[in-house]
Amino acid sequence: MSVFNSLIDQPQVVQTLKDAVGSANINEDASQVMTNTWLFTGPAGSGRSNAAIAFAAALVCEKGGCSTCNSCISTILGTHADVELIKTQGLSIKIDEVRELITRASWKPSIANYRIVVIEDADRLTDSAANALLKVIEEPGLRTIWLLCAPTLTDVLPTIRSRCRHLALRTPSTKAITKLLIERDQIETKTAEFVARASGGHIGRARSLALDATARQNRENILRLPLMIKDIASAYKAAQFLVDSAKSEAVADAEEKDQNEISKLKEAWGSTGSKMVTGGSKAIKELEKEQKSRSTRMVRDYLDRALLDLATLYRDIMLVQANSTESLINQDLLEEIKQLAALKSPAKTVEQIDAILKTRRNLAQNAAPLLLIEALMCELR
Ligand SMILES: [Zn+2]
Repeated sequence: MSVFNSLIDQPQVVQTLKDAVGSANINEDASQVMTNTWLFTGPAGSGRSNAAIAFAAALVCEKGGCSTCNSCISTILGTHADVELIKTQGLSIKIDEVRELITRASWKPSIANYRIVVIEDADRLTDSAANALLKVIEEPGLRTIWLLCAPTLTDVLPTIRSRCRHLALRTPSTKAITKLLIERDQIETKTAEFVARASGGHIGRARSLALDATARQNRENILRLPLMIKDIASAYKAAQFLVDSAKSEAVADAEEKDQNEISKLKEAWGSTGSKMVTGGSKAIKELEKEQKSRSTRMVRDYLDRALLDLATLYRDIMLVQANSTESLINQDLLEEIKQLAALKSPAKTVEQIDAILKTRRNLAQNAAPLLLIEALMCELR
């Protein structure tokens, strides 16, 4: 067994990482051969943070990433003393967080040969946070290794990426995801094939579609939206429906988390309810701000996924317009797809796919979600 087994369909990346671990272990003075800053890029769901964490485990494991020893397991669980995993649920990583991180990163490793910091969303570093980070990676401590993850190279400041060794993960093939779901999760072949195609190469999404009936139902509701758009009024209604479902899903997910965090924080400040010391109520305000930013991000992530689902529907419409019904993703909606295909020209379908992709890009730029989705639904009319 190896920690790298968890990387699906990434043979080249795995080889590079294994080679790096190999040469780091042979050389006494590892700082001579080991690159200190790595950048893992890859589309959502391709496993870029998994790759970084597996690499971290392999570097602190005596056997180069056996996946069964204490070092490997604690790295994967995020409890290893020398490996720090930075994950943000908010919209950005701020300079204060990075400064604290830099202080901790300068300590000597306590049990392993290296101290390793994995930043899962390096694309969410604010510019000032990224510049603070730049200063340390320019003059790294001999034994500190930085593993940064981001969707694409352009999501990271050029000054940072020029100092990183870059590894690009590819979108795992439908075949590889199908195989994984059948072997690891015991999903039945037909379902595995369907969700692997529907997920567009996103392993986590494929798995949740396979295991969660509500997720499948939500997806179908979204795919049925274009059928209900007849005029401007129904386009607005469809947009409202989509944004509302994104919000209610985010609220359901967030509520429990938020309450837990607040009561933990109150406990830490020794509050008995109403009598909070000044510092405590300030801390709570900060936390509430973080939580709000997290909800905003969750709504955006949901909408982004919905747009990807809609794109699969329009891809199918295009295939039907070209008289090919064999490799449809949404075979179960064949009748609906035929209806929509008969209503418009292939050129219009291409325009609509473009509109969906453009909306995704704008959504990532923090534009107001409801306005964007309304404009899109009018395009899909
Ligand atoms: Zn191990």
